[in-house]
Amino acid sequence: MKRAIRMGMGLWGFLAVLSAAAGGISLFVSNPLITSAVWLAACPAVLGLGGVLRQLLKGLEDLERYLKNPDCVPVSKGTWSPSFWESLQKWSARQQTQAEETRQENSRLRLQLQLLERQRTWEQAVLDSIRDAVLVVNEDNQILFANPAARELLNPDAVPEHFSSLGTIETAAALREKIHRCRSGRIRHVRHELTLNVRGQQRIFEAVLSCLPESSPNSGGVVAVLHDISREREISQMKNEFVSHVSHELKTPLASINAYAEMLVDGEAQDADTIRQFCSIIQSQALRLNRLIEDILNISRIESGLVKVNRSNHSIALIVRDAVEMIRSYAQEKNIAIHAPAPILYDQACVDRDMISQAVINLLSNAVKYTPAGGSVTVGLEVDEAEGRLRVTVTDTGVGIPPEELGRVFEKFYRVQANNHMAKGTGLGLNLVKQIIETVHGGRVFVSSVVGQGSTFGFELPLALTGCAAASVGGSS
Ligand code: ADP
Repeated sequence: MKRAIRMGMGLWGFLAVLSAAAGGISLFVSNPLITSAVWLAACPAVLGLGGVLRQLLKGLEDLERYLKNPDCVPVSKGTWSPSFWESLQKWSARQQTQAEETRQENSRLRLQLQLLERQRTWEQAVLDSIRDAVLVVNEDNQILFANPAARELLNPDAVPEHFSSLGTIETAAALREKIHRCRSGRIRHVRHELTLNVRGQQRIFEAVLSCLPESSPNSGGVVAVLHDISREREISQMKNEFVSHVSHELKTPLASINAYAEMLVDGEAQDADTIRQFCSIIQSQALRLNRLIEDILNISRIESGLVKVNRSNHSIALIVRDAVEMIRSYAQEKNIAIHAPAPILYDQACVDRDMISQAVINLLSNAVKYTPAGGSVTVGLEVDEAEGRLRVTVTDTGVGIPPEELGRVFEKFYRVQANNHMAKGTGLGLNLVKQIIETVHGGRVFVSSVVGQGSTFGFELPLALTGCAAASVGGSS
């Protein structure tokens, strides 16, 4: 380029100056002959100026072509000096290396970002799937993190994705106080039992609070993990109640047996009639004890899944008919009429015959027990082929059950106070029916009753539409 300019300045520049001079002279000289001669002499200078411009344009085009594609050095590079090309090539190579490094850095960062995003999604999924409530608050009690269980617990409307004042959440009042104590005492981990009101229900939680380490960005923050232990508490209370019920129920007949046996040993029964009476009391109490133990064992075997279930297809009408026959004499004693269902064409169910028979007998004997003399008991059997279910009902004209107690009669040891005078019992018969029908056979028990008019107890079972698993241990497989 310098060369071109120098050439232009040397040869053609001289001519350009000439042409300028010619122009100037023509302004001052009025002789047309002289003016024409001067312009004629200036013509090559104009042409020279054109040549300089063409050289310049070509050089710029070469430069543009090179910059667009540095691999192809233009053929006409003679326009520029070799040192210029060399510097340009070095500069271009540097630019290429830098561009390559930036590209590599870019893809490394993109990869890192993807890994971080995947890690974040994974951690989020882990925290979201924890059934316990996980809550993180900073030193100002603002919620930094609440997993879905925690949001559900605290009140889903009041806890947005991030940052909300814990003070505004009513259910967390008790928790707030514990968090405050944990934070001010800088306690690493502390365990509390909390009773929180969750949508109107009192629930018991085991809360583990941990202070975030001083070195963490949110020192002063606290992590709270709340585990709902209401069910465990309920079960342990039920177990305690069960044990105290069992011991109480066992004690009564045992005490009676003991007392009459002692009287016999002490010779207090002198005549044969009294001895027979004492012995018969001992026998009936022993039988009651036996029944009680049998019921308890049956229920606990079913509940623990250890009972052996012998399934095969049976006609439920036949099982009902046999049960009615077994109870008929007891009903006759009380002058109670029993109406059994007419045989049904297809009423097969895949059941353990002895267990279903036991369930039907329990319902029938209750119906007779809680119906005053002169009443009646009607057994019904319906088959709903469309639904694939059959339904057994036992309806009596007995004393009935108050509506507020209906929901409890299937509980273990529950006896309706108002009906206790009608018959002795253990309060386990209906629970055993429920375990047999629902836990073992996947059916459903139900009851309806009107005090003074009578009750209907019953159950539904699935019809045997396909094959039947011969034997199994435990629940409704
Ligand atoms: P129980 O050995 O006391 O009869 P169940 O578990 O069989 O125990 O029954 C629980 C309670 O339900 C009974 O104590 C009784 O008060 C009530 N009950 C059951 N069946 C009837 C019925 N057919 N009519 C009225 N009350 C009934």
